[in-house]
This record gives sequence, C-alpha cells and structure tokens, in this order.
Amino acid sequence: MKLKNWKELPEGAIIKNTPTSPEFKTGEWKTKEPYYHAEKCTHCLLCWLYCPDSVITVKNKKIDVFLLEYCKGCGICAKICPVNAIEMREVEL
Ligand code: SF4
Ligand code: SF4
Repeated sequence: MKLKNWKELPEGAIIKNTPTSPEFKTGEWKTKEPYYHAEKCTHCLLCWLYCPDSVITVKNKKIDVFLLEYCKGCGICAKICPVNAIEMREVEL
C-alpha cells in the first residue's frame, strides 16, 4: 500500500503513536533530560499522556522506561507531574 504524504491526509488525522521518527534520534538536541524518581511516582500516567515525543513507556498500567534517545528535554513531563517525581537535570557531555 502506498503511504499518503502530509498533503493527502485529512484534517485531524491521527497517525501511529510511536516515537514520531524512530530512525531520527531527536534526543541529541537536548541540554536537560528527565530524571525519574520511581519511589515518588503514583503512576497517574499524566507524563505519558503529555509527552509530545512518546518518550515515556507504560507496562501493565505503570511507567516503564524513558526512551531518552527521543527526549528533546522540553520539561513538560516534570511540569505536569503532580508529585514531583520527575526532575530535569543537565545532560552530562
Ligand atoms: S522532557 Fe519532554 S520530551 Fe522529554 S520525556 Fe519529558 S515531556 Fe517527553
Ligand atoms: S506524572 Fe509523575 S506521578 Fe504521574 S506517572 Fe508520571 S512520574 Fe508518575
């Protein structure tokens, strides 16, 4: 099947929910990255829902791993977390 290009997609179309570009490691851009404090996490999944790059994965209805190679360091996950279980830290070069 021939894939549609962006001009052929209908308005409001939903595309596959995986890291937006598996071959393109967007995580190389960031200066900060999330540090996950598992002991504080209540698994409300808000960070999973809000992450724009599908970095945060869920297994058995709980946070599993952060695919940091796709994380752009926007900090949305840390901002949205109601119990401060995510801390943005400088990336060590
Ligand atoms: S910093 Fe941004 S891109 Fe990275 S995991 Fe958090 S919400 Fe996702
Ligand atoms: S938003 Fe915070 S408490 Fe909720 S799942 Fe993410 S890290 Fe855990």
